[in-house]
Amino acid sequence: MSGLIFVLIVIAAFWSLAYFAAPLWLWTVAAAVGLVAEGWLTHVAPVIGWVVFLVLAVSLNVHPLRRMLITDHLLGWFRKVLPPISETERIAIDAGNTWWDADLFTGRPDWKKLLGTPAPALTEEEQAFLDGPVDEFCKSLDDWQITHDLFDLPPSAWEQIRKHRLFGMIIPKQYGGLGFSALAHSTVVMKIGTRSTSAAVTVMVPNSLGPGELLMHYGTEEQKAYYLPRLARGEEIPCFALTGPYVGSDAGALPDDGVVCKGMYQGKETLGFRVSWDKRYITLAPIATLLGVAFKAYDPDHLLGDKEDLGITLGLIPTNLPGVEIGKRHNPLNSAFMNGPTRGTDVFIPFDCLIGGTQYIGQGWRMLMNCLSVGRAISLPALGTGAGKHASRVTGAYARVRKQFRVPIGKFEGVEEALTRIAGYTYRMDAARRLTAGALDRGEKPSVLSAILKYHCTEGMRQVLGDAMDVHGGRGVMMGPRNYLARGYQAVPVSITVEGANILTRSMIIFGQGAIRAHPYLLKEMEAASSDDHAKAAVDFDRALFAHIGFTISNGARSLFLGLTGALFSPAPGDGATRRYYRQLSRMSAAFTFTADVGLLMLGGEMKRREKLSARYGDILSHLYLASATLKQYEDQGRPPADLPLVEWACQDSLYAMQQALEGILRNFPSRPFGWFMRLLVMPLGRPYAPAGDRLGHKVAKLLLEPSDARDRLTRHAFTSSDPNDPVGRMEHALRQTLAAEPVEEKLQQGLKKRLAPANYLKLVAEGAAKGVIDAREAAMLKEAHAVARDAIDVDEFGNLRNA
Ligand SMILES: Cc1cc2nc3c(=O)[nH]c(=O)nc-3n(C[C@H](O)[C@H](O)[C@H](O)COP(=O)(O)OP(=O)(O)OC[C@H]3O[C@@H](n4cnc5c(N)ncnc54)[C@H](O)[C@@H]3O)c2cc1C
Repeated sequence: MSGLIFVLIVIAAFWSLAYFAAPLWLWTVAAAVGLVAEGWLTHVAPVIGWVVFLVLAVSLNVHPLRRMLITDHLLGWFRKVLPPISETERIAIDAGNTWWDADLFTGRPDWKKLLGTPAPALTEEEQAFLDGPVDEFCKSLDDWQITHDLFDLPPSAWEQIRKHRLFGMIIPKQYGGLGFSALAHSTVVMKIGTRSTSAAVTVMVPNSLGPGELLMHYGTEEQKAYYLPRLARGEEIPCFALTGPYVGSDAGALPDDGVVCKGMYQGKETLGFRVSWDKRYITLAPIATLLGVAFKAYDPDHLLGDKEDLGITLGLIPTNLPGVEIGKRHNPLNSAFMNGPTRGTDVFIPFDCLIGGTQYIGQGWRMLMNCLSVGRAISLPALGTGAGKHASRVTGAYARVRKQFRVPIGKFEGVEEALTRIAGYTYRMDAARRLTAGALDRGEKPSVLSAILKYHCTEGMRQVLGDAMDVHGGRGVMMGPRNYLARGYQAVPVSITVEGANILTRSMIIFGQGAIRAHPYLLKEMEAASSDDHAKAAVDFDRALFAHIGFTISNGARSLFLGLTGALFSPAPGDGATRRYYRQLSRMSAAFTFTADVGLLMLGGEMKRREKLSARYGDILSHLYLASATLKQYEDQGRPPADLPLVEWACQDSLYAMQQALEGILRNFPSRPFGWFMRLLVMPLGRPYAPAGDRLGHKVAKLLLEPSDARDRLTRHAFTSSDPNDPVGRMEHALRQTLAAEPVEEKLQQGLKKRLAPANYLKLVAEGAAKGVIDAREAAMLKEAHAVARDAIDVDEFGNLRNA
């Protein structure tokens, strides 16, 4: 009996050491104490145990010996399995920094740190800009006119863009721009996106990766002083050209070149580049006056030095230079923002036309990646979230106004499911958008989180707009001025493709970059392995490796404990309703980190090619972030009880998604025994999560079906209107009229003992008024509600589609 107790104590002690990631010396002391205790209990000295102990204790704790016996061999092996990392990959990996993603990669996220970050907020000036000029701009936009009649923004919209400096949101005030925060920038794009995707993309592009941003970060003082005010005022129309027929996702494979040579510029001979390019898909190119062009620079005549191949370089080329070709247009799924090819043949540009001048020759890829690590978190996430807000507002209203089988369609469980997803995804996207924008405004440049945002907000957009279309049925399909959904739906693949196509982002970038950047030890090990200073490399690798081993053991032990206890004892903030989600996220963080470490250990560089596994790891990391953001948003907004269903649904959906991804990893893990072993530790009692339940889904969907503070919070900054002649206002107006009419309709039905239906509606209203069941004012109100509801479900009709 005492033997059994002893064994249990030993297991508990070693498990505690593992759980709390105890240092090696403590493990050594504990093992020695264990051996002494065993000798004392059994009255027999465990000789073999002591021999093994001494060998291990000495070889693990005496560092030079440890390096000689263990680490040097492992370092040799690691160097062999380390995937070759190209210069372009290394630069992409190095871009930006880490923030909350690094906490999620520890297996024990520090919730106090997350909740302690200030709630993102707009300044008074930014709020006034949104409520004033942006609202006015949105009101003036007619998306059908833009996408069908003009295939361009109307002159008045271009005028407003210039007047309100919408192209200069990120340009500092000293250069005549608006100097907005990332949150304001994101919110402006989002709001315009709820009105017209074409207008939003037009405004978005000069404020994201392109001449403006590149000049702000890398431009010379002369370039900034000249170009930034002109860009802010809209006197220059910028575009940025990287993509070409042979350059898509693999942007490093650029064939466009620039050769150092002497040439004539503004009547003077000067040194510069002769650049040729063939680019396509370039937004704003057809009307651009200033072209940012990425090309590979060469110096075959050694006019600059010994090096011939100088690397990717960014030119800033006025489009009126001889040899520049712009003007033709592509048709990106019927969106009307300007997009087209640009070509240049032997265009001579002086060094002054390089962004940042000669010191940035060959630095183009690094400059682009650094800007992308921030910009990717703003524009497309804003469009995706805006789509969610717009879909929430109009689909909820439509589902309440539109009746079938005498019931508002939103009350059918099938439709309710779609409404639930629309609202739940929207809450989560908005939470992640705000949290990340807040981080950017505090100076973070979280490249992994920006990839997560880009992917999940655009995939969220695909989901919510697909659901919104389903709920609208034919009303969503028939195109025309009344249709407020179809153009956004058509444009979804544009968002999916740009700024890192989604399949690539999910399969390679999120976990590929996340594992290297956010993992506490992997990058240190990789740096040591690729260092030429072998003595230092051995010491650094040894330190990182043993810390890594302790970290992995600790996360394995934590995963098992949290799995067995349902994470019930894990410290967590929040209130009675949300505490459990923090706990489950801590559990999933430990499981993710542990399984990721085992995966990286087993596959090493091969992980890069195992995109399906990498994608699943990326899904878990992403949902850890999305659910964290959801909880933070709830706290930031003062825990409004009405929002709780949204928070719970989003968290449950994320937990279930993580479980599905984990299940996929365990089932498809290349080594089956390792898959089983990991399953034992991370899901010891089976799968813990289920999809969010129907009752919760019902509460979420209900929030969209009638006006409320929760609905307004969810759709804050979506363009709204109560003008019955506006496509969106028409639906809002109908919702309010329908809800106001319903008690009177009930009174009428009871008084007449007859059921109202579209066919007898006006007849029964007249009969009720004649019999005094309802008064004249009520009768007028019902007639109007009936007409307004009809108007809201009507679609456009054209005499001749060719001339429509
Ligand atoms: C409307 C629009 C506007 C644009 N605006 C600009 C602009 O202003 N400036 C600019 O320079 N570019 C612009 N682009 C280009 C855009 O960035 C590219 O389309 C994008 O980089 C993808 O390149 P691609 O279309 O050639 O697709 P490809 O690179 O050919 O990719 C095709 C598919 O393969 C997948 N894929 C590729 N490699 C991998 C991999 N290793 N693992 C897994 N999947 C992979 C991709 O995810 C994608 O699904 C625009 C594109 C569009 C459609």
